[in-house]
Amino acid sequence: MMTRRALLAGSIIGMTVGRIAASSAAQTFEVVHSDAEWRKLLTPVQYAVLRQAAAERPFTSPLLGEHRHGTFVCAGCKLRLFSSGTKFESGTGWPSFWAPLDNAVGTTQDSTFGMTRTAVECTRCGGHLGMCSMMVPSPPACGIA
Ligand SMILES: [Zn+2]
Repeated sequence: MMTRRALLAGSIIGMTVGRIAASSAAQTFEVVHSDAEWRKLLTPVQYAVLRQAAAERPFTSPLLGEHRHGTFVCAGCKLRLFSSGTKFESGTGWPSFWAPLDNAVGTTQDSTFGMTRTAVECTRCGGHLGMCSMMVPSPPACGIA
């Protein structure tokens, strides 16, 4: 039986680039809310992560130890993002996946904190899902140069 669990981010590690659609800053999304509406729809932690690109503290996500078979969905819009079959133990302290479901996520370049990183977002609502990392050797790393 498939189950759904809302994914709170700070957690996307080691995705393969070929399956991620790059997005632009001017992209519009199917699910759009005002800032005030997002604050009402999400918990404070969900709002901080999804709408302000904050990261959960490592090793605090209840999904870190989630190993049931199912699908992880966006906490903002319920889009199906990742199969449980692509979740792996990265050792980073965040739930990690090596591949998204088709057309589920996009990427943008993030240059905060003096380094260039690849941010992963939901294609339906633009919610921040986490960062792609090359620091995880296996399964296949992100490969962003
Ligand atoms: Zn979403």
